[in-house]
Amino acid sequence: MLTNILNDINSILAPRVCFGCNAHLNRGEKLICTTCRNDLPLTDYTFNDENPVDRIFYGRINIKKASSMLYFSENGIVRELIHHLKYKNQEQIGTFLGDWYGQILKDNGELKNAIDVIIPVPLHKKKLRKRGYNQVASFAERLAFHLNAEYVDNILVKTANTKTQTKKGRIGRWQNIKDLYILSDHNALRNKNVLLVDDVITTGATMENCAKVLSQAPNTNVYIASMAVVP
Ligand SMILES: [Zn+2]
Repeated sequence: MLTNILNDINSILAPRVCFGCNAHLNRGEKLICTTCRNDLPLTDYTFNDENPVDRIFYGRINIKKASSMLYFSENGIVRELIHHLKYKNQEQIGTFLGDWYGQILKDNGELKNAIDVIIPVPLHKKKLRKRGYNQVASFAERLAFHLNAEYVDNILVKTANTKTQTKKGRIGRWQNIKDLYILSDHNALRNKNVLLVDDVITTGATMENCAKVLSQAPNTNVYIASMAVVP
């Protein structure tokens, strides 16, 4: 609530600048300038042909298909966008990206009417309280809207408040915590095609962990999508 009010005040007081390059936005430009919009590194991956995101998960988990909207790089527009989305209360960036990618996936055919439920990778409740929102939520909600699926954020639950431990790498990151994610209701996902959504896929460890948990539901197919992937 307070976060929302502060957001409103902030958006009135702050000059409208591009989240990608800090240039002043012209009238009609939203969130990012036309140059950055044209420069956004779209992957062109969809849920049709096999792509490098699928290959991240080969031999690790049984998923139907994976895809990402953008390429992530350490010093680029995508990093700026996701940084603002995650740490600067700019939730509308997720809406913007979700509308864009949702439209791409919808126009693409293959996934249309294939997905029943869209689930964001959850935050622990303490982290959610602190940040005020799950940074994946608005992106996932817009995908759900365009793909005619149900957005569900209370079935997959994170049980511990793990810190970001980038130095530890794929194995150390969550191996020592059993059941880091659980299903609050096994039957709610029965016979469903579930699209699991996250912000950035790096090693794929988080997605792998969550997808394994989703697969515990009876006869569930798991798809994976993210805003960005580290190429
Ligand atoms: Zn820009």
